[in-house]
Amino acid sequence: MSVDTAAAVAERFRELYGAGPEGVWAAPGRVNLIGEHTDYNDGFVMPFALPHTAVAAVSRRTDGVLRLHSADVGGDVVELRVDDLVPESDRNWTAYPSGVVWALRQAGHAVTGADIHLASTVPAGAGLSSSAALEVVVALALNDLYDLGQKGWQLARLCQRAENVYVGAPVGIMDQTASACCAAGHALFLDTRDLSQKQIPFDLAAEGMRLLVVDTQVKHSHSEGEYGKRRAGCEKGAALLGVDALRDVAYDDLDAVLDRLGDDEEVRRLVRHVVTEDQRVEQVVALLESGDTRAIGPVLTAGHASLRDDFRISCPELDLVVDTALASGALGARMTGGGFGGSAIVLAEAADVETITKAVEAAFASAGFTAPRVFEAVPAAGARRVS
Ligand code: ADP
Ligand code: MG
Repeated sequence: MSVDTAAAVAERFRELYGAGPEGVWAAPGRVNLIGEHTDYNDGFVMPFALPHTAVAAVSRRTDGVLRLHSADVGGDVVELRVDDLVPESDRNWTAYPSGVVWALRQAGHAVTGADIHLASTVPAGAGLSSSAALEVVVALALNDLYDLGQKGWQLARLCQRAENVYVGAPVGIMDQTASACCAAGHALFLDTRDLSQKQIPFDLAAEGMRLLVVDTQVKHSHSEGEYGKRRAGCEKGAALLGVDALRDVAYDDLDAVLDRLGDDEEVRRLVRHVVTEDQRVEQVVALLESGDTRAIGPVLTAGHASLRDDFRISCPELDLVVDTALASGALGARMTGGGFGGSAIVLAEAADVETITKAVEAAFASAGFTAPRVFEAVPAAGARRVS
């Protein structure tokens, strides 16, 4: 995020609220390199932060008033009272920042109001976590201003609670932790059970490679219902196997475990995806740590096949990105995020980027799909104060 952006957000704050903000903060969106639909199974994930951020200018208030404005939504300032915040009462964008205030207060933090103006470059609904960026930027600003002393992972937990309980969306812990805790030039290896984490150096440019994000610009409408079904199916699998979460199924025991599930084909597929996906995360970590970066390509591609065939959350647009990229020389490719639209990632030699991009665009055009948005993702910094 540039200094210009921070200054512009602060200036707009001044116009809206009559005085400059106490500070400006930024929190990024993320892409998940590997580890999809593992976070609500207590498993492993490996996101990294995007250069795209939600930027918030914020000041404290002592009168219990919460005022909210988003440059991307426009309209009037929304004014609420912190005492009146009630879970699942708000179906608008304001539920995200309000939910954070609610979660902080629920946790016993004396947040007595705020003026907030924000602007975000994280595309909304593209599977790149614009919602978590919004939550985390507000949480970090209030943490700093009210001197709450919470660490990144603790703020992530509070933001997840805001989204689960206040907004009413049953999301896992990955997105908020990624936005709060990622480091530039690294991917974050996160154990979602205990939130232990390790920063893994991930500097593709130094090795002549690139990672492309292809935003298909589609979001199929049944995605939320299907997400709920997958979660419920995973819980059923864990219950049938007598484990707390599918994370507890060892990869080496997978065949025996699948036998035990008998002919419940639906649950067998979900279990197979989650258990193999955890294994793929560990494989990618090992490959990156041993400097064998190009070898992660086939692991990413195997992850896509598992999401498409076993978890069944891909869609024609995502499959077309992956198939076209691989046919044009990509080292690996997979859908990323919740599925049924959103974005895919492509790992490629720098020299092949142009060919691959053109091929994907041409394939979309001839399939009659909306043109995708393609951009290069360089692992960027996590949430921070910018002024
Ligand atoms: P994702 O997190 O994958 O982008 P979500 O559906 O979880 O998708 O979150 C998108 C929602 O977050 C939007 O519908 C909107 O309510 C909110 N949001 C994201 N960015 C902004 C923004 N800049 N201003 C206001 N609301 C935003
Ligand atoms: Mg989201």
